[in-house]
Amino acid sequence: MKKKRIHFSITTNIFISFLSLTVVMIAFLWSLEAIFFNEVYRATKENDIEIASNLIVDAIGSENIGNTVEQIIDEYDLCMQVYNCKDASIIYTPECKSNGCIIHGVTDDTLYFHWLSGANDSNEGKFSEISSSENGEDFLVFARVVTDTKGVVYLLVLNASIEPMQSTISAIRTLLILISILFLIVAVVISFILAKRLSSPIVKMNNNAKKLARANYDVEFDVEGPIETRELAKTLTIATKELGRLDSMQKELIANISHDLRTPLTMISGYAEVMRDIPDEITTENLQVIIDESARLTSLVNDLLNVSKLQAGTQTMNIQRMNLTRAVSNTVERYARFKEHNDFNIVFDYDREVYINADEIRLLQVIYNLINNAINYTGIDKTVIVTQTVENDVVRISVKDSGEGIKEEDLPLIWDRYYKVDKIHKRAVIGTGLGLSIVKNVLLLHGSRFGVSSEIHKGSIFWFEFKIVD
Ligand code: ADP
Repeated sequence: MKKKRIHFSITTNIFISFLSLTVVMIAFLWSLEAIFFNEVYRATKENDIEIASNLIVDAIGSENIGNTVEQIIDEYDLCMQVYNCKDASIIYTPECKSNGCIIHGVTDDTLYFHWLSGANDSNEGKFSEISSSENGEDFLVFARVVTDTKGVVYLLVLNASIEPMQSTISAIRTLLILISILFLIVAVVISFILAKRLSSPIVKMNNNAKKLARANYDVEFDVEGPIETRELAKTLTIATKELGRLDSMQKELIANISHDLRTPLTMISGYAEVMRDIPDEITTENLQVIIDESARLTSLVNDLLNVSKLQAGTQTMNIQRMNLTRAVSNTVERYARFKEHNDFNIVFDYDREVYINADEIRLLQVIYNLINNAINYTGIDKTVIVTQTVENDVVRISVKDSGEGIKEEDLPLIWDRYYKVDKIHKRAVIGTGLGLSIVKNVLLLHGSRFGVSSEIHKGSIFWFEFKIVD
């Protein structure tokens, strides 16, 4: 069976992590104390005993040698004995005040000779070793050969207990406990503050993302914090705005499409009903209305299908050599004939026929949409001029109208799906907002350059380019 993992909030996670680090550090401190305390104590004692022996040697010859030596052995908590090396006799034994001793009261010479030979064998005339007393306590014994100003040779023997005193141990333990408690308190406070600070941008963003998930596109992701969270916030804000824009466009589109679908459907059913009820009304004109409205419905549905196929990337391209000039000229001619009764003046200006490699059906959609827009949006002179220009091996088709033009801030947006400059729905003129999206996607699939230039109250020129082939 799969184990269920417990998940904490990011604040709790950070808090626990920092606290765990502190606990590990404290545990480490205690282990160090347990493992190394005796070693450190021993090393310190060894150092101390050598320093004391140096001080004692320095005091030889001074007037007040007795007092000085006693002070030194008191201060370093040592026991001392001095032998004359001539006859191995003990010549000086200050009173033993130290914490245990194993050199006083030694009656046989064996130990004396052991220390002396140890000191003589070493380079510096010094010898040290650890010996245990009868009750198992460990002592450090230090022996050193010393020659005084008169040339008399002595053996200086010092001794110190290397078992730390219980009071020392307790003092250190108490200090460690206090330090640990203090550390823990400080760590809890600092971990809490840090956890709050580090997690707050993410917590804020998470709350806003939840609002976004509930389709609230007004949320702002502006958070303080490290670079990455700021960048993430920026990206999310852009994504939110884009989602909001698409959402309102989509809503608008649905409203427009419903309107667009309902109008021809009402016309078709209305005319059909009239013709059914009044046989005299079965006229060519009335039938033409039904045919025109059906054509409008078909083109709307086709537009919708095309745009969704292009966006989904399911469209396969059939690139072939085609006569671009002929394709444009045929479309212009069809429009010219169709719009004749509306006094439209649509011309195609070209000097020779050129061939390009393209998907003819898709490219016709481009030409059709650009001319259709130009006709829909052109001014009162009802003129649309389509021009073919050739430069080197590149052909450019431009469609120029004399309409209201497009504001500069709208220019980058008109290629978006569902975008319409004029939000007020005027069905007679305005389409679904899908035409230019189809144009853009088809031209992008061909890798063509395209664009628009527009002047308010003067009109717009939409253009695209293709490489000419032989
Ligand atoms: P529509 O079906 O609304 O024409 P398009 O995608 O073809 O959709 O165009 C998008 C928007 O761009 C249009 O709603 C219109 O505001 C603007 N537009 C397109 N062509 C022209 C033009 N020739 N003159 C002025 N505005 C245009």
